[in-house]
Amino acid sequence: CGIVGYIGNGSAQEVLLNGLERLEYRGYDSAGVYVVDAEGQQGHLFREEGRIAKLESEVDMNLEAHTGIGHTRWATHGEPSVRNAHPHQSTTGRFTLVHNGVIENYNEIKESILSGVTFHSDTDTEVAVNLIEHYALTDGLDAEAAFLKALNVIEGSYAFALIDSEEPGVVFAAKNKSPLLIGKGTDFNTIVSDAMASIDLTDQYVEIHDGEIVILTEENVTIKNLKGETVERDAYTAQLDA
Ligand code: GLU
Repeated sequence: CGIVGYIGNGSAQEVLLNGLERLEYRGYDSAGVYVVDAEGQQGHLFREEGRIAKLESEVDMNLEAHTGIGHTRWATHGEPSVRNAHPHQSTTGRFTLVHNGVIENYNEIKESILSGVTFHSDTDTEVAVNLIEHYALTDGLDAEAAFLKALNVIEGSYAFALIDSEEPGVVFAAKNKSPLLIGKGTDFNTIVSDAMASIDLTDQYVEIHDGEIVILTEENVTIKNLKGETVERDAYTAQLDA
């Protein structure tokens, strides 16, 4: 339903929770955030069923984190519950993913390529994050290549934001038939399903087209097409009431 990702020099928890609140109007049944703490480079996952206020009371605000992804879920695969709430993690815990939309061939992937994997939720999203890990581990690919390979197999609609704990200074993203935008700032970048989510931080947004892969760092935004070529695209000014 709603996605907010952040990488920069501010508090990731603050930006993510604030962004999720701004997306509340779209409706949701559960919410969660994942942040990487700056010192230990350790990931921390917080998920709750129900209101964002409940999630807020769970999130450790004292943690120093500058990278993270957050999600409000509108269940399509699996009942609303903490275990089905996003972000979802791969088996080893290396990859963490938030997803809007519906993966049409998730069952096929689950029963073929991922037949050896034990799943902890009923979501199509958990299949996607394990598919990425599968390509990373089996084919020895880095996150970008494993993500790209998984995107070639996944059918359906999606907006994805992904963190690889082995590259904690990067947020990856991609979309197909589901909205997702890059918010550009000074010393930070965001990835949002709706400009509303980070409009208080920046009014500069960059479109992402279906089939592109996005690599965000604190200082840089890189967009690549399916051939792996870098795409240059200017930001536009979003006209929303902050
Ligand atoms: N299909 C995913 C799920 O059921 C994502 C739903 C959404 O867009 O919030 O968890």
